Amino acid sequence: MRELENFINGAFVAPADGASEPVLNPATGETIAQAPLSGAVDIDAAVGAARRAFEGWSQTTPAERAEALLGLATAVEEHGDELARDDSMNAGKPLSAMRNDEIPVAADNLRFFASAARCLEGRAAGEYLEGYTSYVRREPVGVIGQIAPWNYPLLMAIWKIGPALATGNTIVLKPAETTPITALRLAELAAEFLPAGVLNVVCGHGDPAGQALVDHPDVDMVSLTGSVETGKRIAASAATTLKRVHLELGGKAPVVVFDDVELESALETIAGTGYYNAGQDCTAATRVLAGPKVYDEVVAGLSEQAQGLVLGDTLAEDTTLGPLNSARQRERVEGLLERRGKHVELVTGGNEPAGSGFFLEPTVLAGLEQDDELIQREIFGPVITVQRFSDEEEAIKWANGTPYGLASSVWTRDVKRALRVSKALRFGCVWINDHIPLVSEMPHGGFKQSGYGKDLSIYSLEDYTVIKHVMAKLD
Ligand code: NAD
Repeated sequence: MRELENFINGAFVAPADGASEPVLNPATGETIAQAPLSGAVDIDAAVGAARRAFEGWSQTTPAERAEALLGLATAVEEHGDELARDDSMNAGKPLSAMRNDEIPVAADNLRFFASAARCLEGRAAGEYLEGYTSYVRREPVGVIGQIAPWNYPLLMAIWKIGPALATGNTIVLKPAETTPITALRLAELAAEFLPAGVLNVVCGHGDPAGQALVDHPDVDMVSLTGSVETGKRIAASAATTLKRVHLELGGKAPVVVFDDVELESALETIAGTGYYNAGQDCTAATRVLAGPKVYDEVVAGLSEQAQGLVLGDTLAEDTTLGPLNSARQRERVEGLLERRGKHVELVTGGNEPAGSGFFLEPTVLAGLEQDDELIQREIFGPVITVQRFSDEEEAIKWANGTPYGLASSVWTRDVKRALRVSKALRFGCVWINDHIPLVSEMPHGGFKQSGYGKDLSIYSLEDYTVIKHVMAKLD
C-alpha cells in the first residue's frame, strides 16, 4: 500500500502531526493508499514555500514558463498509462475513458496554456493627458490557493495549475480528500520543470486543510472547483481578507430536445454524456426536457441506452460505467431517489447492483415536475430525468428555472430556433445538437450559482492576473 505525503518546496514531506487516513478504490471499497490529513501548520509551510518561490517565478519570461508547461505536457503523456490507472482506481473511472479521453485532453490543455502564456499582453500605450503616457501591465496575482474536486482529479488539477503557472503565479493545491493520488504525482512530475515551491500539493479535508488555505493571510487568491455550498462558504471566508475568488461550481445542464430532433444520434449522445463518469460531471446531460411529440420515444430510447451500459471492474476494457466516487456520494444520490414524489416514474435502474464497490444502476426517471428536488438540485450520479414541455416558451422557462447556469444544450433541425433558444438560455455554455465537447481554446465557466471566473481559454489566464496602470510624466 502506498504511503502518500504532501509535496512542499520540491519534496515529499509527512504532515506535521503525522495523521493520515485510508484512500479507497470506489469500485471495490478496498484501501489503496494512506493519505496525509493535513492542517493549518502544513498549509502554512506550503504557503511560505510558494511565497518565497514567487519572487523568482513571477520574474520569468512567458517563454520560460511556456517551456516548463510544454515539458509537463510531454511528461503527462509519457506517464499517461500510470496516471490513467491511478485515476481509474482512485476515482472509479473506466480505464478506457482515462486513456482515450482524459490523458490526451490533459496534455492538450497544458500545451494550450503554454502557448497562451506567450500571447497575453497589456494594452499598448496611449496619451490621455497632455505630457503623460500610459500603459497597462498584466501581472501575476501572487500565491494562489487552489481547491479541487474528486470527479476529474488529474484534469481539474491541470485546469487549475495551467493558467496560474502560465501567468507567473505560485500555487498551493489541495486535492479532494478522496482522490489525492494523481495531483501528488503531477507535482512530482512538474518538479523537473519548475523551481522548488512553485507548485505545492497539500492533502486533507475541506476543513481544516482547505479552510486554512482560504483563511491564510499570505494567499492572494482562492480558486475552487466544487459544489455551490462550498463555493458560498469560501466566498464568505475570503471576504474577511478580501481575497480574489474564482469559483467553478455545480451544474444542472438542461438538454432541450425539440420534436424535430434527429432522434437516434441525439439519444446516443445524450445517454453517452449523461452517464459519462457515472454522471459525476458538472455539465452532465442529465436533465432532459423533451417536446410533447418526441417525449415517449426519448424516455424509451434513454432507457434502452442505459440498459446497454456495462458496469464493473474499472480496469476492464469493456466497462462503460464505473461506480460513484464514495459511499457518501452514493447515499446522497439514493436519498434523492428515495424522496422522489409519487408522480415520478422510475423507468429503469435505481438499485445497487450486487457485489462490492459504490455502484448504482444507470437510472431513467420520467414525468418530473419543475419544482421537484430532482430537478432543482444537482444529482451528480448516473440518473437522467425527463420532463415533457409543451412549447418553446415553456422549454426555455424550465431550462432556466434552477439556481445553476453552467452548461446546456438544444436539439433541433430548425436553425432559427437553435439560435433563438441559445440566446435565451442563461448558461456559460450552449451546445447545439451535441453535448459536452470541450476545447482548450474556449472558456468553461458558469452563470448564476454555478460560479464566476473561467477555466480554459485565454480568459482563464486573464483571471489569474491583475491589471496595473503605469502613467509616466514625459517632461
Ligand atoms: P465539494 O464542494 O464537496 O468539495 C470540493 C473541494 O472543496 C474539496 O477539495 C473539498 O475538500 C474542498 N472543501 C470543502 N469544504 C471546504 C472549505 N470549507 N474550505 C475549503 N475547501 C473546502 O465538491 P465535491 O463533492 O468534491 O465535487 C463535486 C462538485 O464539484 C459538484 O457540485 C460539481 O458540479 C462541481 N464541479 C464543478 C466543475 C466546474 O467546472 N464548474 C467541475 C467539476 C466539478
